[in-house]
Amino acid sequence: MNKFIFVSGGVCSSLGKGVAASSLGALLEGHGLNVRMVKCDPYINVDAGTMSPYQHGEVYVTDDGAETDLDLGNYARFTSGPLSRANSVTTGQIYDAVIRKEREGCYLGHTIQVIPHITDEIKRRILAVAGEDPANDVVIVEIGGTVGDIESIPFIEAARQMIHEMGRKNAISVHLTLIPEVAGAELKTKPTQHSVKAMQELGIQPDILVCRAPVMLDEATRQKIALFTNVESEAVIVSYDISTTIYQVPLVFYEQKLEEIVLKKMGVEVRHADLSAWYTMMEKFSARRGRVRIGIVGKYMELHDAYKSVYEAIFHAGLACGVETELVKVDSALLDAASDIDTVLGSGGTSRVDGVLVPGGFGDRGIGGMVKAACWARTHKIPYFGICLGMQVMVIEWARNVLLWEGADSTEFTPDTAHPVVSLLEDQIEVTMMGGTMRLGGSETRAREGTLIHKAYGGGPIHERHRHRYEFSNRYRTDMLDSGLILSAFTPDNALVESVEWPSHPWGLGVQFHPEFKSKPTAAHPLFTAFMQAIIAGSRSGKHR
Ligand code: GLN
Repeated sequence: MNKFIFVSGGVCSSLGKGVAASSLGALLEGHGLNVRMVKCDPYINVDAGTMSPYQHGEVYVTDDGAETDLDLGNYARFTSGPLSRANSVTTGQIYDAVIRKEREGCYLGHTIQVIPHITDEIKRRILAVAGEDPANDVVIVEIGGTVGDIESIPFIEAARQMIHEMGRKNAISVHLTLIPEVAGAELKTKPTQHSVKAMQELGIQPDILVCRAPVMLDEATRQKIALFTNVESEAVIVSYDISTTIYQVPLVFYEQKLEEIVLKKMGVEVRHADLSAWYTMMEKFSARRGRVRIGIVGKYMELHDAYKSVYEAIFHAGLACGVETELVKVDSALLDAASDIDTVLGSGGTSRVDGVLVPGGFGDRGIGGMVKAACWARTHKIPYFGICLGMQVMVIEWARNVLLWEGADSTEFTPDTAHPVVSLLEDQIEVTMMGGTMRLGGSETRAREGTLIHKAYGGGPIHERHRHRYEFSNRYRTDMLDSGLILSAFTPDNALVESVEWPSHPWGLGVQFHPEFKSKPTAAHPLFTAFMQAIIAGSRSGKHR
């Protein structure tokens, strides 16, 4: 069975199309179906890897080393199908492939056009995901952007062709819109009517509408929307605002039988849905007691999406440990300029934190503030979790403040430092192209027994994803070990240091990889859980206060 669901969006961006598509995926999985997710991004970059986090939020890395849109992170958190390079399609990739084929002479004699050549390449990629595994049942294709955007038209057109060619039993359209509330007036359906018209002009009649609204819509409003849009009123689903967590969205849709309507439209027999994992997760959400405050010391603080997977992973760990988690976002550049760090992070200030997390990042802005935060956590015995750059900062801080090597740094920030304790990976030296050339993707790590990292994984295998060009400098292994820094995990060939830990400290761990990409609300990541447990243990003993 190969069925296709195209999820598009209208009215405006940021309506939560990724969460809606993922939630539908979760519901269909609850019915025992094998679901695959695909994101189509209309931008011309080949992948998200060369964009600033401020442009497009976090770069999500897959096991096979693709640098993708952050919506793949949503798919990974809500659904369980494999995600790879194939699940992220961009205009850049499509044109790149078509132009290469043209140069190879694959289309000799033809004029290359958006229809059919670009649309055929889009369709080929979507069908390839479906065909990866004969057990695949449904492919949910999320089309980025808002209907009416020039850039997304070829993707909408490819969807139109697939719906036309396969028939409505095999391919349907789910369209997400907004029902705004005008101050002093009622909820407005007109933007939704216009958005559906925009879809119809492009040749697609949506089968199902998902309406973002501040509250549940009454029956009369749903019928009005149905009347104006040719959608059955039962297929007008409301994604009303919830005060709990985005992970309740699958259950909000389930109440309104979204997946039953989808399955009925596609002629699939509706089986009993098992959503127990989502109900259990919500029970844990309500049962949380107490609150811990995690100081995130990073450089892309204004945009929540820039560290999305890290923030989600913290929330998941809170669920697993039964505590509410509050994020205290600290701009590392401001921390660098602050004369007294204790007033920002410490008990003297308003932003007292129970743990510090320094996430990944690139470039030298704000590094001084991260080093200060690491020093503060180390000397005040506050749990500290360093991810990628956050681990490199631990090494720099140790070299400067314990080994007293003035000016010790990563060559990323000070190329001519006298103490390059973090330096370019050897296989990066010859690299000149910037796109997709970092150390990327999943690989195995071996932890030494008796270390925090070994304990967190329960001694089991460690397979995590990377995205970096710089690395702990091997020539300093002896100096670091002799001064007490714990080098706790390595690549299987022992060539690269994968994690470091502070001695005589409740919990100070830095990892070169990105564990945040593998955390789920229904299965928190063991490193985030261990970090949270250390924070809770510290708070209970009053150590951090
Ligand atoms: N900028 C650092 C490097 O390239 C860290 C990268 C990261 O945090 N993802 O090695």
